Amino acid sequence: MTHAVIIGGGVAGPAAAMALQQAGIEATVHEAYPTGADDVGAFLNLMANGIDALAAIGADQLVIDHSLPAERVEFLAGSGRPLGAVPITGTARTLTRAALYRLLHDEATPRGITIHHGKRLIGLSHSGDTHVTARFADNTDTQTDLLIGADGVHSTTRGLIDPAAPAPRYLDMITVCGYTHHSPETTPVGTYRMAYGRRAFAGYTTDPDGTTWWFVTIPSRERSRTELAATTSQQWKRHLLELLARDHTPLASIVAACDSTIIGTGAYDIPHLPTWHHHHAIVLGDAAHAASPSAGHGASLALEDAVILAQCLRDLPAIPEALATFEHLRRSRAEQLVATSAKMTGRAIPGPLTRRVRDALLPLLLRGGPRNTSAWLTSHHIDWHIPVTDTTSSATTTE
Ligand SMILES: Cc1cc2nc3c(=O)[nH]c(=O)nc-3n(C[C@H](O)[C@H](O)[C@H](O)COP(=O)(O)OP(=O)(O)OC[C@H]3O[C@@H](n4cnc5c(N)ncnc54)[C@H](O)[C@@H]3O)c2cc1C
Repeated sequence: MTHAVIIGGGVAGPAAAMALQQAGIEATVHEAYPTGADDVGAFLNLMANGIDALAAIGADQLVIDHSLPAERVEFLAGSGRPLGAVPITGTARTLTRAALYRLLHDEATPRGITIHHGKRLIGLSHSGDTHVTARFADNTDTQTDLLIGADGVHSTTRGLIDPAAPAPRYLDMITVCGYTHHSPETTPVGTYRMAYGRRAFAGYTTDPDGTTWWFVTIPSRERSRTELAATTSQQWKRHLLELLARDHTPLASIVAACDSTIIGTGAYDIPHLPTWHHHHAIVLGDAAHAASPSAGHGASLALEDAVILAQCLRDLPAIPEALATFEHLRRSRAEQLVATSAKMTGRAIPGPLTRRVRDALLPLLLRGGPRNTSAWLTSHHIDWHIPVTDTTSSATTTE
């Protein structure tokens, strides 16, 4: 039986392990942190295509049962004026990143998948043409038939596969998230309210307990992860309140009332990674094609990757051929998402003139009825049973 070592116990890692098991391949997950959920403050949306990928491995219901619906987005100008609203197509769900990690672990473990914690990959070597050895920071190593790097935007695997791999591109923005339990402003459950402020782009939604989940995206120089982690909730709050002060949206009062830990994460993307795989090692998810958070699709694409890689390994006779076919099936979709998301990031906090034009045009565009510009993303469907035959045929259908 083929054995795979997966690096990273975030979104793509446990999902890939479950998909591989379904394809008859045994996989173990190696996660650097003592738990998979270090980034507890952030929340994310899983779109219909992400839920569809989870359904292909029978893991959708657990996530649906432990998340909030995401059904509609309302837009506000910085003046507080409503600009319009659009529905979110298909089954989309909101949950914290920590909850998603935990749910995927809770689903994978009873299926007999081992997730080793405290295992930080630091090296890899190929033995002959058929084996890979992964080396970990705790001085252990393990030999396997295939190594899968699902280790996120700051991936170590990526640089070990190709030392010339480009570094992630910093997008001059930080997303700051928090939870306000006794919020002065709420939304109906399932509704997001997004506000184009003068100096920040922000949004919030309210869960059935009345807690408002919010984010504020702010322009910023690049800060190291250590510096971000060292910034206290009070410091974030002061800074955000300064940036939101001139707006007439509910965000300032929600942030002011925030009683949870506030965390900030730098926005990065990887528009084009020339080498996704080498011999018996490959990267997927954010490690291969991180997108800025603006389109809210990185996790959904990481889940699609996990399932489609397993289909390729199930159906193609040799690992190198399966990896090449996977890249062929995934690269253009992933790079299109990264480009779309980067454009949205650029539009989030424009100058005064563009802001006026946008605030004038957006209501007209939305009044013409919702244009489902993200249909190419959300309508992606994976049929687990359709075989992958060669590098030019697709195991997926896009409606
Ligand atoms: C603020 C913010 C908001 C976002 N909002 C959304 C959203 O609404 N919708 C959406 O779809 N996406 C969103 N995203 C993106 C989404 O979080 C990612 O696309 C998704 O988590 C990628 O999954 P992954 O498994 O590839 O990587 P990750 O989830 O980052 O998992 C990588 C794992 O690898 C581990 N690791 C790293 N290095 C090593 C190593 N050397 N050895 C072992 N393990 C290692 C990490 O600890 C981590 O557990 C958002 C991102 C941010 C920053």
